[in-house]
Amino acid sequence: MKTKIAVVGCGPSGLCAIKNCISEGFEVVAFEQTSEIGGEWNSNLEVGPNVHSKIYEGLQINFPKELMEFSDFSYDKNITEVFLTPDKVQNYFLKYTEKFDLRKHIKFNHKIINVRPIDDKWEIIVKDLKNDEYKTITCDKVLICVGISTPWIPKIEGLNDFEGKIIHSRDYRSTKMFENKKVLLIGSGFSAFDIIIAIDKVAEKVTWVRKIKEAHAPFLKIKLSSKSTEKTILIKRFTKSGAEFEDGSFEEFEIIAFATGYDFTFPFLSVDSGISVYDKLVQPLYKQIINANRPSMAIIGLPSFSLRMPMFELQIKFCMQYWSNRKIFPSKEEMLEDIQKDFKLRGVYINRNSHNAHYLGLKNHEFYYQDLAETAGIANIKICLIKMSTHIGKHTFENFHTFRNFKYKILNDFEFSCDCLENQKDENERNQNCVIAKMLKLSI
Ligand SMILES: Cc1cc2nc3c(=O)[nH]c(=O)nc-3n(C[C@H](O)[C@H](O)[C@H](O)COP(=O)(O)OP(=O)(O)OC[C@H]3O[C@@H](n4cnc5c(N)ncnc54)[C@H](O)[C@@H]3O)c2cc1C
Repeated sequence: MKTKIAVVGCGPSGLCAIKNCISEGFEVVAFEQTSEIGGEWNSNLEVGPNVHSKIYEGLQINFPKELMEFSDFSYDKNITEVFLTPDKVQNYFLKYTEKFDLRKHIKFNHKIINVRPIDDKWEIIVKDLKNDEYKTITCDKVLICVGISTPWIPKIEGLNDFEGKIIHSRDYRSTKMFENKKVLLIGSGFSAFDIIIAIDKVAEKVTWVRKIKEAHAPFLKIKLSSKSTEKTILIKRFTKSGAEFEDGSFEEFEIIAFATGYDFTFPFLSVDSGISVYDKLVQPLYKQIINANRPSMAIIGLPSFSLRMPMFELQIKFCMQYWSNRKIFPSKEEMLEDIQKDFKLRGVYINRNSHNAHYLGLKNHEFYYQDLAETAGIANIKICLIKMSTHIGKHTFENFHTFRNFKYKILNDFEFSCDCLENQKDENERNQNCVIAKMLKLSI
């Protein structure tokens, strides 16, 4: 009998999971709670508890298209832009689905409600949202590909007392609600950067509170108008009308906007699934993928500040190596030991900074891909893509306002070009890139 795999979620990672399960000869059944594929890229600018996509007006992709595709399917050759708009990314996933005939494996409008282990199998309760019916299925393995959807808001005294509007970036779609308002924006990530640049143009004034230094990354500078201010001092408490800061200052606001990221939540996992989540740490996960308590379950896409699509593909191929028995998992003890070793290497301390446990960043992402590839005996992400993403990561932090103006191009499996590297002032960087590329070519 064929091994039966359930895929939960049909965003980019779920689609790649279905495709690879089929190539492997597994039977696959995939569930998607919305009526279309694409996950985050299936945007319609609506908000609400049943809307998954958080894409907002004016969002520009932060990676060149070559970093947003799977190795077995490229963007249309006629697309000349480097940084695409979200609709073009969604179109890519529609074409990918068509090319590999994935739709017939997907049950749309089906939400996974419960996943629990029964002996060495998984019992899944799924709700057919259109017919308001519950069904139960049993499968051998589960691939969880649900992305992120639960807003994370820091605990600060008095938030419930605030009488103005409170919004999380999950529900931000346009600048409309901020027009001529006094706004407090809290956050240090890409959404915060995009939102501050956009609302700075329409609000009466914006006070932006961010961390002094983004985790594992240089301090990113944003140019703001004179009516906006940036603060790195913390908020002490909220009041009915505003916020009091740690330095004793007080400001009045009409809207508080949190762009503070998301919690990892898997509300459908039973308590005996073997997985627990605490302070953004999902554990115990071998290589941040495999449920060490029950290795027939995997979670795809957790490591953040990483290449998305190429990493999803690598993680899925990692699972395929083991689930097809070409590789045998280490024992549970060895997996737990490996997790601790990884924490030590990346400086993750439980209860101190477990919050950042799944953050890779410029420092760790290359090592992570290489480790997956070597451990499972599979091909790594192409060197040219890894080097290009590291280069862009640096550029993004050095100049958030202009990094998308550069033209990136893949030259071969090892090298990429960027017009910024042709400037005289970047000669050192250009030489360094060529040296790195040549060294890697020689060592392979
Ligand atoms: C504002 C924003 C901007 C971004 N910009 C970029 C970018 O520029 N470049 C980039 O590479 N990445 C970007 N990302 C990251 C983006 O999330 C990934 O590119 C990618 O979409 C993640 O794929 P995924 O399949 O893991 O999750 P998602 O795309 O989130 O898909 C998850 C799917 O699972 C479904 N699902 C969830 N729970 C259930 C359930 N219980 N039952 C059934 N189905 C379920 C959802 O409906 C959804 O379709 C951005 C994300 C956001 C929020």
